[in-house]
Amino acid sequence: MRSREVVVVGGGLIGSLAAFTLRRAGADVLVLDADRPGAAWQAAAGLLTPDGERLRGTPLHADALEGLRRWPALAAALERSGVPVHLRPGVTRLQAGGRVQVTPGEASLHPPSVVRAARRGLEVVAAQVQALVPSGGGVRVRTDVGDWYAGRVVLAAGAWSGAFGVPVGARQGQALLLRGAPDIGARYGPPARGFSRYALSRPDGLYVGATSRDTWTTTPDAHAACWLRGAARTLVPGAGGAEVAAHLVGLRPVTPDGWPLVGPHPTLPGVLVAAGHGRHGALLAPVTAARVLALVGQGVSA
Ligand SMILES: Cc1cc2nc3c(=O)[nH]c(=O)nc-3n(C[C@H](O)[C@H](O)[C@H](O)COP(=O)(O)OP(=O)(O)OC[C@H]3O[C@@H](n4cnc5c(N)ncnc54)[C@H](O)[C@@H]3O)c2cc1C
Repeated sequence: MRSREVVVVGGGLIGSLAAFTLRRAGADVLVLDADRPGAAWQAAAGLLTPDGERLRGTPLHADALEGLRRWPALAAALERSGVPVHLRPGVTRLQAGGRVQVTPGEASLHPPSVVRAARRGLEVVAAQVQALVPSGGGVRVRTDVGDWYAGRVVLAAGAWSGAFGVPVGARQGQALLLRGAPDIGARYGPPARGFSRYALSRPDGLYVGATSRDTWTTTPDAHAACWLRGAARTLVPGAGGAEVAAHLVGLRPVTPDGWPLVGPHPTLPGVLVAAGHGRHGALLAPVTAARVLALVGQGVSA
């Protein structure tokens, strides 16, 4: 049977950055990714905003600030792959009453480029992991294309991590990518009907997001498109009629209490869990990757 020091299940924002960090520390690491429709990284905006999204005053705020602090060095390391990740400083907040506040410490980036850059230096195999079976001090990884034996497994399968005995589910988000809109940087508006409204200029167009619904559906719907068009009109005057380049749908991995799970699996020895990052996976990924490296620990030469 093929054998590796570390097998990472899922090559999304969390899995690919954990694997990238392990690889840089000298680990023999393999990523298995099922290329699931609805993977959150393909639909994520890329805002790095510890002061938005109801983080301030929660136990996650310190990690969010630390994630933001770590991003410039991580982005530089990723870009050595030749893939730019489009890290841009500055977020503008449009507040009720027309007031505008610029938060220069916050930033944005392009999540699909982050994943592509991280994967470039890694071995990534297209495989759907079906079972994790502890055996002989390591873990047997059963997939649709055969088995691997791993010293350690990092479970980072996003919303699908729940299939492996941890309390993680899905919260769907939809967003639009519009063509031909002006470059506005990143803008946050006042929430509407409880949803955050934001727009940011990215290499693939003007991103406008995002809805939030308790469903596993990964097909876009007209109701969301209409709400997102309204958000575009509010945030970027003139952009409401712009041509749609893509209607994105992603499943945010969520936990019952809203906090990510990063630590040993409750029942499977040899398996570390890194899942449930909800709305904040891009922001928190550098901190989670550092924790995974520390947990994989002694066996990995730093
Ligand atoms: C609309 C939207 C906007 C967002 N905006 C932001 C933002 O601005 N800032 C921010 O910080 N976060 C944002 N997020 C959240 C962020 O995208 C997630 O927190 C993050 O992607 C979670 O990373 P992950 O690797 O855990 O899951 P994912 O990114 O979903 O990746 C999971 C990976 O696991 C693979 N997989 C699943 N099952 C298996 C299996 N059995 N075997 C092998 N592989 C498997 C999938 O194919 C996938 O590639 C947003 C999300 C959405 C949906």
